[in-house]
Amino acid sequence: KKLGIALVGLGNYATNQLAPALQVTENAYLAGIVTGTPAKEKIWADKYKIDPAHIYNYDNFDNIINDAAIDVVYVVLPNSMHKEFVIRAARAGKHVITEKPMGLTAAECEEMIAACHKAGVQLSVGYRLQFEDNTQQIVHAGQSLPLGPINYVRSEFSFIIGNPKQWRLKKELAGGGPIMDIGIYCIQGARMATGLEPIALRAVEYKTDHQKFSSVEETVMWQMEFPGGLYSNSTCSYNMKANELYVSYAKGNARLEPAYSYRGVGGHLGQLKLPPHQVNQQALQMDDFVVCIRQNKTSKVSGEEGLKDMKIVDAMYKSMANGGQRVVI
Ligand code: NAD
Repeated sequence: KKLGIALVGLGNYATNQLAPALQVTENAYLAGIVTGTPAKEKIWADKYKIDPAHIYNYDNFDNIINDAAIDVVYVVLPNSMHKEFVIRAARAGKHVITEKPMGLTAAECEEMIAACHKAGVQLSVGYRLQFEDNTQQIVHAGQSLPLGPINYVRSEFSFIIGNPKQWRLKKELAGGGPIMDIGIYCIQGARMATGLEPIALRAVEYKTDHQKFSSVEETVMWQMEFPGGLYSNSTCSYNMKANELYVSYAKGNARLEPAYSYRGVGGHLGQLKLPPHQVNQQALQMDDFVVCIRQNKTSKVSGEEGLKDMKIVDAMYKSMANGGQRVVI
């Protein structure tokens, strides 16, 4: 039997990526929705044949505890709301997936992990690229070292943000700027490529548009220091364009560009071409979570995995606040 997933927050990502992915998942289906916009209820109910019994709003969401059709709650709300809805879902006895960033701080992530642990439910983060084949080739190369040891990693993700009124530019909803949104991918990229955890970092912020970026950072450049004297360089920005993961090995290099997109991730690994795969990352991610639930196995994109990234994010803001000082993680 497929497990039922309820999406919480029916914005862009839920509408254009997750709901379509749930039409091709093998282990899960779209069983319910949670929305603060009543007009969306009928549209989604008609489109995806969702029974009104499985439609909730943010106020009556906790009644989901009595809904046997919902096994998993997937939180796709603005970042500042992840913690609250993960904890409420856990209290309702549901397994939970939350979008990235997992929370706004490592401390929030620890609360979320504790709540899920207490409720006996599994928690995972929407790190779809951990289910993307070419990314996995880079991960394997970092472990089996066919091109020798890694001596440098560069990960960059930037785009030029549009509407100046959106929640992504409001600190109280987003928790920060590009670090929270796309810097997370650069951190994941460097951690995945090396298979190592950074021990320290330095981060510097640059701002050109003080009005648009009055409450969040615009551009951040940072270096992470890994055990054994390996360094990575990263940039994330809401005012540039980049989408790349580059790894230098003793005997060659690997490059994915685009590295973080929904489709088309591809490049090369030494002499090996890595042409894009037509996989649905979100479907693979959700199917894998169901397997983990069924087998009572920890997901590779668990809450603990999300917490590791948020400890790095905390250190980045600390370093930025101190003029790029080295911060031990
Ligand atoms: P969005 O703005 O399109 O959707 C946000 C949804 O939250 C909307 O339905 C909105 O109505 C609802 N909402 C509830 N309270 C709100 C409030 N106070 N202010 C604004 N909206 C409110 O955003 P999105 O792009 O769908 O992002 C949602 C989450 O998904 C974010 O955490 C984001 O980081 C994550 N995301 C992940 C990926 C990925 O590739 N994994 C891609 C895009 C977004």
